[in-house]
Amino acid sequence: MATPVNPGDSPDLSPDLRVRIDQDSCTGDGLCVQYAPSVFEFDIDGLAYVKNADGELQSEPGTHVVVPLPLLTEVRDAAEQCPGFCIYLEHADGTLEAGGPQEEPAEQARADAG
Ligand code: SF4
Repeated sequence: MATPVNPGDSPDLSPDLRVRIDQDSCTGDGLCVQYAPSVFEFDIDGLAYVKNADGELQSEPGTHVVVPLPLLTEVRDAAEQCPGFCIYLEHADGTLEAGGPQEEPAEQARADAG
């Protein structure tokens, strides 16, 4: 088993930002893997998962890893453009920085409510 990486130990890891995927909503299209293949990878189930700083696939659904600072832009782009809205770029306290489900515009929400 890999030793957890302490973000404070490496200048290349964001001390605050981490990323996870909600596999229940992953479409398996692979956009994230194209953006940041050292952070995102498919498992044998055809869904995307995150990889830790040692490149080890975290096959437990919903596992988060610390974002490598040099890849922050790529990870943010993947989160913002993920068609399943299932990549969550979050601060350590769980506050969403980018990605996740898109908020419905107020007008659309009213229309949906009938
Ligand atoms: S971009 Fe989103 S939906 Fe597509 S494979 Fe990655 S996590 Fe899944």
